[in-house]
Amino acid sequence: MLCFRDWFGDASLYVLDVPLACCALESQTAAEGRPVAQPPADEKLAVVLSGTLTRAVAPAVKELLHGLPTRPVVLAFGACTATGGPYWDSYAAVHGAAELGVAVDHYIAGCPPPPGALTRALEEVRRG
Ligand code: SF4
Repeated sequence: MLCFRDWFGDASLYVLDVPLACCALESQTAAEGRPVAQPPADEKLAVVLSGTLTRAVAPAVKELLHGLPTRPVVLAFGACTATGGPYWDSYAAVHGAAELGVAVDHYIAGCPPPPGALTRALEEVRRG
């Protein structure tokens, strides 16, 4: 189930991790803060796309992003969400979130990246 988190526990950044494949094991290990059903309006929001974007799931991810109340900061966590990763030549994989027309603000390299890389990126988003 998808849930937002008050990641740093001080309402400075709400994060929605979208677990798509194996990278999600790492991003969910990094998860901090209290789960919340819905972040307050106008608060800073980040969406973490973690894992392989398949052509089957891509429309739902796009709809999810467009349905959010504010334009989120989007993080592509791992090689798959950046470029398609090891599935770059698969007919079933989208070659990165940008191919969906999603503006990606942060790319986090790795297959998979370590959880700490997500923590550092979210600290940067919070500061920015
Ligand atoms: S980047 Fe690697 S670890 Fe992450 S979802 Fe793709 S194959 Fe799995």
